[in-house]
Amino acid sequence: MEKYQGIKVNILHMLHIKEAKMMSTLEQILQANKQFVEHLPLEYMDDYPIPGKLPSRELAIFTCMDTRLVDFLEPAMGISRGEAKVIKIAGNSITGPFEATIRSLVISIFELGVKEIVVIGHLDCGLANTDSEKLIQKMLDRGISADAIKMIEKEMEHWIDHFHHPVENIEEAVIKIRSNPLIPNDVPVHGLVFNPHTGELSVVTNGYGYVHKAPMA
Ligand code: ZN
Repeated sequence: MEKYQGIKVNILHMLHIKEAKMMSTLEQILQANKQFVEHLPLEYMDDYPIPGKLPSRELAIFTCMDTRLVDFLEPAMGISRGEAKVIKIAGNSITGPFEATIRSLVISIFELGVKEIVVIGHLDCGLANTDSEKLIQKMLDRGISADAIKMIEKEMEHWIDHFHHPVENIEEAVIKIRSNPLIPNDVPVHGLVFNPHTGELSVVTNGYGYVHKAPMA
Protein backbone atom coordinates (compact mmCIF):
# COMPACT_ATOMS: atom_id res chain seq x y z
CA MET A 1 0.00 0.00 0.00
CA GLU A 2 1.35 3.40 -0.97
CA LYS A 3 1.87 5.79 1.92
CA TYR A 4 2.09 9.55 2.05
CA GLN A 5 4.38 10.56 4.86
CA GLY A 6 2.86 13.43 6.78
CA ILE A 7 1.22 14.91 3.70
CA LYS A 8 -2.50 15.42 3.71
CA VAL A 9 -3.47 14.63 0.14
CA ASN A 10 -6.40 16.48 -1.36
CA ILE A 11 -7.95 13.56 -3.19
CA LEU A 12 -10.03 15.72 -5.51
CA HIS A 13 -6.82 17.16 -6.93
CA MET A 14 -5.85 13.63 -7.88
CA LEU A 15 -8.93 13.29 -10.08
CA HIS A 16 -8.82 14.46 -13.64
CA ILE A 17 -10.56 17.84 -13.60
CA LYS A 18 -12.67 17.13 -16.69
CA GLU A 19 -13.69 13.77 -15.28
CA ALA A 20 -14.63 15.36 -11.96
CA LYS A 21 -16.87 17.91 -13.70
CA MET A 22 -18.85 15.12 -15.40
CA MET A 23 -19.46 13.36 -12.09
CA SER A 24 -22.25 13.97 -9.61
CA THR A 25 -21.27 15.06 -6.11
CA LEU A 26 -21.96 11.58 -4.80
CA GLU A 27 -19.80 10.02 -7.48
CA GLN A 28 -17.00 12.47 -6.66
CA ILE A 29 -17.22 11.54 -2.99
CA LEU A 30 -17.16 7.81 -3.68
CA GLN A 31 -14.30 8.16 -6.15
CA ALA A 32 -12.33 10.24 -3.66
CA ASN A 33 -13.08 7.71 -0.96
CA LYS A 34 -11.79 4.80 -3.07
CA GLN A 35 -8.49 6.61 -3.58
CA PHE A 36 -8.38 7.72 0.06
CA VAL A 37 -8.79 4.18 1.36
CA GLU A 38 -6.24 2.83 -1.14
CA HIS A 39 -3.68 5.44 -0.05
CA LEU A 40 -4.72 5.86 3.56
CA PRO A 41 -2.56 8.68 4.96
CA LEU A 42 -0.10 7.67 7.66
CA GLU A 43 -1.68 10.06 10.16
CA TYR A 44 -4.68 7.73 10.26
CA MET A 45 -2.72 4.47 10.11
CA ASP A 46 -0.43 5.52 12.93
CA ASP A 47 -3.42 5.93 15.20
CA TYR A 48 -3.16 2.32 16.30
CA PRO A 49 -4.92 1.37 18.47
CA ILE A 50 -7.68 3.38 16.79
CA PRO A 51 -8.93 6.27 18.98
CA GLY A 52 -11.94 5.17 20.99
CA LYS A 53 -15.31 6.81 21.43
CA LEU A 54 -14.21 8.45 24.66
CA PRO A 55 -12.66 11.88 24.03
CA SER A 56 -9.15 11.70 25.48
CA ARG A 57 -9.19 15.42 26.40
CA GLU A 58 -12.57 14.93 28.15
CA LEU A 59 -13.91 17.87 26.19
CA ALA A 60 -17.08 18.71 24.23
CA ILE A 61 -16.99 21.54 21.69
CA PHE A 62 -20.27 23.12 20.63
CA THR A 63 -19.89 25.25 17.53
CA CYS A 64 -21.41 26.43 14.23
CA MET A 65 -21.68 24.44 11.01
CA ASP A 66 -19.94 27.25 9.04
CA THR A 67 -17.87 25.77 6.18
CA ARG A 68 -14.88 27.95 7.02
CA LEU A 69 -14.51 26.15 10.34
CA VAL A 70 -14.03 22.77 8.67
CA ASP A 71 -10.42 21.62 9.01
CA PHE A 72 -9.64 24.96 10.67
CA LEU A 73 -11.21 25.22 14.13
CA GLU A 74 -9.82 22.00 15.61
CA PRO A 75 -6.22 22.61 14.49
CA ALA A 76 -6.56 26.21 15.75
CA MET A 77 -7.42 24.74 19.19
CA GLY A 78 -4.73 22.06 19.19
CA ILE A 79 -7.42 19.38 19.09
CA SER A 80 -6.87 16.20 17.09
CA ARG A 81 -8.88 13.15 16.15
CA GLY A 82 -10.01 11.19 19.20
CA GLU A 83 -9.62 14.08 21.64
CA ALA A 84 -13.03 15.82 21.76
CA LYS A 85 -16.71 15.52 20.94
CA VAL A 86 -17.71 18.15 18.38
CA ILE A 87 -21.36 19.23 18.08
CA LYS A 88 -22.23 21.51 15.17
CA ILE A 89 -25.47 23.45 14.74
CA ALA A 90 -26.28 26.46 12.52
CA GLY A 91 -25.50 29.47 14.70
CA ASN A 92 -24.58 27.38 17.79
CA SER A 93 -27.79 28.39 19.59
CA ILE A 94 -29.60 26.48 22.32
CA THR A 95 -33.34 26.52 21.62
CA GLY A 96 -34.87 24.35 24.32
CA PRO A 97 -34.30 22.45 27.56
CA PHE A 98 -33.75 19.06 25.90
CA GLU A 99 -33.08 19.91 22.26
CA ALA A 100 -30.47 18.11 20.15
CA THR A 101 -27.40 19.88 21.57
CA ILE A 102 -28.42 19.37 25.19
CA ARG A 103 -29.07 15.69 24.44
CA SER A 104 -25.62 15.35 22.89
CA LEU A 105 -24.04 17.08 25.89
CA VAL A 106 -25.93 14.85 28.34
CA ILE A 107 -24.66 11.73 26.53
CA SER A 108 -21.16 13.22 26.34
CA ILE A 109 -21.05 13.91 30.09
CA PHE A 110 -22.77 10.84 31.51
CA GLU A 111 -21.70 8.20 28.99
CA LEU A 112 -18.54 9.44 27.32
CA GLY A 113 -16.49 11.06 30.06
CA VAL A 114 -16.76 14.71 29.06
CA LYS A 115 -15.78 17.00 31.95
CA GLU A 116 -15.65 20.38 30.24
CA ILE A 117 -17.68 22.20 27.56
CA VAL A 118 -16.53 24.92 25.18
CA VAL A 119 -19.10 26.92 23.22
CA ILE A 120 -17.46 28.48 20.16
CA GLY A 121 -19.27 31.03 18.04
CA HIS A 122 -17.54 32.87 15.25
CA LEU A 123 -17.38 36.35 13.79
CA ASP A 124 -19.25 36.94 10.56
CA CYS A 125 -21.82 34.21 11.32
CA GLY A 126 -24.38 33.91 8.52
CA LEU A 127 -27.25 33.57 10.96
CA ALA A 128 -26.84 37.20 12.03
CA ASN A 129 -27.83 38.27 8.50
CA THR A 130 -30.81 35.95 8.12
CA ASP A 131 -34.35 36.73 9.24
CA SER A 132 -37.33 34.43 9.47
CA GLU A 133 -39.46 36.45 7.07
CA LYS A 134 -36.94 36.15 4.23
CA LEU A 135 -36.35 32.48 4.99
CA ILE A 136 -40.08 31.69 5.03
CA GLN A 137 -40.52 33.43 1.68
CA LYS A 138 -37.72 31.36 0.15
CA MET A 139 -39.30 28.18 1.51
CA LEU A 140 -42.72 29.11 0.08
CA ASP A 141 -41.12 29.92 -3.29
CA ARG A 142 -39.61 26.44 -3.36
CA GLY A 143 -42.99 24.82 -2.78
CA ILE A 144 -42.86 24.16 0.97
CA SER A 145 -46.44 24.13 2.22
CA ALA A 146 -47.72 27.04 4.29
CA ASP A 147 -49.18 24.52 6.77
CA ALA A 148 -45.77 22.98 7.38
CA ILE A 149 -44.28 26.43 7.94
CA LYS A 150 -47.10 27.38 10.29
CA MET A 151 -46.16 24.43 12.52
CA ILE A 152 -42.64 25.73 13.17
CA GLU A 153 -43.04 29.44 12.50
CA LYS A 154 -42.93 30.57 16.13
CA GLU A 155 -39.95 28.36 16.92
CA MET A 156 -38.14 29.56 13.82
CA GLU A 157 -38.78 33.22 14.59
CA HIS A 158 -37.53 32.74 18.12
CA TRP A 159 -34.39 31.03 16.86
CA ILE A 160 -33.40 33.18 13.87
CA ASP A 161 -34.71 36.63 14.79
CA HIS A 162 -33.17 36.32 18.22
CA PHE A 163 -29.65 36.00 16.78
CA HIS A 164 -28.25 39.52 16.51
CA HIS A 165 -24.58 39.24 17.35
CA PRO A 166 -22.27 36.20 17.59
CA VAL A 167 -20.80 37.27 20.95
CA GLU A 168 -24.21 37.86 22.59
CA ASN A 169 -25.30 34.52 21.19
CA ILE A 170 -22.29 32.77 22.77
CA GLU A 171 -23.01 34.34 26.17
CA GLU A 172 -26.61 33.22 25.94
CA ALA A 173 -25.75 29.66 24.91
CA VAL A 174 -23.27 29.38 27.79
CA ILE A 175 -25.88 30.57 30.30
CA LYS A 176 -28.50 28.20 28.90
CA ILE A 177 -26.16 25.20 29.13
CA ARG A 178 -24.83 26.15 32.55
CA SER A 179 -28.29 26.71 34.01
CA ASN A 180 -29.83 23.62 32.41
CA PRO A 181 -30.89 21.31 35.26
CA LEU A 182 -29.65 18.29 33.26
CA ILE A 183 -26.05 19.58 33.13
CA PRO A 184 -24.05 18.97 36.34
CA ASN A 185 -22.72 22.17 37.87
CA ASP A 186 -19.20 20.77 38.27
CA VAL A 187 -18.78 20.95 34.47
CA PRO A 188 -17.14 24.22 33.41
CA VAL A 189 -18.84 25.82 30.39
CA HIS A 190 -16.61 28.29 28.53
CA GLY A 191 -17.57 30.67 25.74
CA LEU A 192 -15.08 31.58 23.02
CA VAL A 193 -15.35 33.52 19.77
CA PHE A 194 -13.42 32.38 16.70
CA ASN A 195 -12.18 34.59 13.89
CA PRO A 196 -12.71 32.53 10.70
CA HIS A 197 -10.22 34.69 8.80
CA THR A 198 -7.24 34.63 11.19
CA GLY A 199 -7.93 31.52 13.28
CA GLU A 200 -7.75 33.53 16.51
CA LEU A 201 -9.84 32.53 19.53
CA SER A 202 -10.88 35.04 22.21
CA VAL A 203 -12.45 34.24 25.55
CA VAL A 204 -15.99 35.56 26.04
CA THR A 205 -16.72 33.62 29.24
CA ASN A 206 -14.29 31.67 31.38
CA GLY A 207 -16.33 28.87 32.93
CA TYR A 208 -14.00 28.00 35.83
CA GLY A 209 -15.43 30.70 38.05
CA TYR A 210 -18.89 29.20 37.97
CA VAL A 211 -18.28 25.54 38.79
CA HIS A 212 -19.22 23.82 42.02
CA LYS A 213 -17.52 20.69 43.28
CA ALA A 214 -19.19 17.42 42.34
CA PRO A 215 -21.26 15.95 45.17
CA MET A 216 -19.49 13.15 47.04
CA ALA A 217 -20.56 9.73 45.83
ZN1 ZN B 1 -22.03 30.49 11.93
